[in-house]
Amino acid sequence: MAGEFALIERLLSQVRPDPNTQTNGLLLGPGDDCALIAPPAPGESFAITTDMLVEGTHFLHTDSPEDLGWKTLAVNLSDLAAMGATPRYVTLAAALLAGDESSAWVDQFFSGFTNCAQKHKVSLIGGDTTRGPRTFSVTAIGTVHPNQALRRSGAQDQDDIWISGTPGMAALGLAYKLGTTDLPVVLEQSTYKALHRPQPRIALGLSLAGLAHSCLDVSDGLLQDLGHIAQASGLAATLHNAALPPAPNLVDPALWQQCLLGGGDDYELLFTAPTSARSKIQTLSATLKLPLHRIGQMHADGKAGTITVLDIHQKPVDLSNLRHGFDHFA
Ligand code: ADP
Ligand code: MG
Repeated sequence: MAGEFALIERLLSQVRPDPNTQTNGLLLGPGDDCALIAPPAPGESFAITTDMLVEGTHFLHTDSPEDLGWKTLAVNLSDLAAMGATPRYVTLAAALLAGDESSAWVDQFFSGFTNCAQKHKVSLIGGDTTRGPRTFSVTAIGTVHPNQALRRSGAQDQDDIWISGTPGMAALGLAYKLGTTDLPVVLEQSTYKALHRPQPRIALGLSLAGLAHSCLDVSDGLLQDLGHIAQASGLAATLHNAALPPAPNLVDPALWQQCLLGGGDDYELLFTAPTSARSKIQTLSATLKLPLHRIGQMHADGKAGTITVLDIHQKPVDLSNLRHGFDHFA
């Protein structure tokens, strides 16, 4: 057997769940025309999201296939995390080049994908495989109680604004990869990991139920994505420059500002929460061993959707030279 079906069989044989140990509501895995999954627990809903990665736009031909497989799934699980959902199932639609079906590239891609799936206990329940410019589209399905889902529109006046982890590092890694900046050796590995091995913040998303009023994952730049929360919530936002993660040693401050505020690919959670939740959020940071930075406030005065960054003298920082995030059609 050669070609498409051999490839599908080769890939699926690595992940096909043992029918005797199946839990998780999967009634029929890949192999038929559809997978079958049981309805979620009473009171819960499915949370469903799709993200696509296209060669030349989201990754380069020369990128490590194993990293790419990881990232293809991780960026989708990040959307579930941002909703406060528990990841359950994924499908994978792949367009591959002629010859890929018999190359190690696909196996390495699939190995990265499978590692991420196993780490986060999701089952691959189906997909599609076709020929074309390398493109990967994942649909991820999670479960969440609809009243606990973390929406963009829930921010309230005077909420604190928080961001997890190390925003800006992925964009810094991309600038280095594209040769537009030099980096001290100590940052090479951490920026590479931030760019190529994003960690979906699932435990954080689950823990924010009942604490955060709004949340999203930052994929297209902090300012642009905060703008989505502000717009959806009908509020303005102020960030405090001094509270933002500082430029790493030996990194040009202007480049860092661009990476932190306008870069993409962070996959950190940006959320708002009432001031009364501060100590619980700090405890959560310690429990999860994940930095959580309190970087500003939402407020009702000012035009909805506007964001101001203030310096230590409470003067607005000039952001006119900043590229504000990624838009595929801009
Ligand atoms: P169909 O012709 O019904 O679309 P396919 O031949 O495309 O079926 O796929 C056969 C089975 O393999 C289906 O159950 C499908 O979900 C699964 N499958 C195909 N490609 C993938 C993939 N890239 N990842 C996971 N499952 C896949
Ligand atoms: Mg098909």
